[in-house]
Amino acid sequence: MQPLVLFDLDNTLVDRRLTLARWAATFRAHCGLGLEDEGWVIEQLSERASPAHFEGIRTRFGLAESAETLWEGYCADIAAAVVCPAEALVGLERLRALGWRIGIVTNGAAGVQWAKLRSTGIADRVDAVCISEEVGARKPEPAVFLEAIWRCGGHDKGGEAWMVGDNPVKDIEGGRTAGLRTIWISGDVTWPQGLPEPDHHAPDVRVAIELLAAGEPERKQA
Ligand SMILES: [Mg+2]
Repeated sequence: MQPLVLFDLDNTLVDRRLTLARWAATFRAHCGLGLEDEGWVIEQLSERASPAHFEGIRTRFGLAESAETLWEGYCADIAAAVVCPAEALVGLERLRALGWRIGIVTNGAAGVQWAKLRSTGIADRVDAVCISEEVGARKPEPAVFLEAIWRCGGHDKGGEAWMVGDNPVKDIEGGRTAGLRTIWISGDVTWPQGLPEPDHHAPDVRVAIELLAAGEPERKQA
């Protein structure tokens, strides 16, 4: 059976925080808002973005554009701005060349998540995509991981199957509960006390891909 790996998207394969911050600065200028307003908008969208969020933003600032127009503009702007590092894209290609099947498991609205996956080129380099809005379940619920595994062609109990992500609960605890081994993308933060440790830590997704490509990785702390 081919080994399988599922990747989170936001702040794992792409830098959502940076992309959102840059978009918010442009949005503030476009709408004539203040810096404090920009901070409020970022806060509203920090966890997730949806048309409903833009209804709230529109109401608060009395914007003339409809929530739907604002949402469509957001999706287009984010897709145009978001980047997946070239090393990560090459890493995905390398894993597939080594026989890995690759899935994306992401919480979010289908429109914006698909726009990001296509514009970055990630969609062309994976076997399956599982977006919470399309599946009707959100990480850390096991159903979303199991759906992604199924869409990748399934895996047997003894086969290698991994989840790679930045969120200790949604990605790591959720992945473990679904029966996956886990690599936590730590960035510059430490693992939260009280949660069971992931199988591995990696400072960024490029290191995680190297660990997977190298075979059964030694335990490595970032
Ligand atoms: Mg994430």
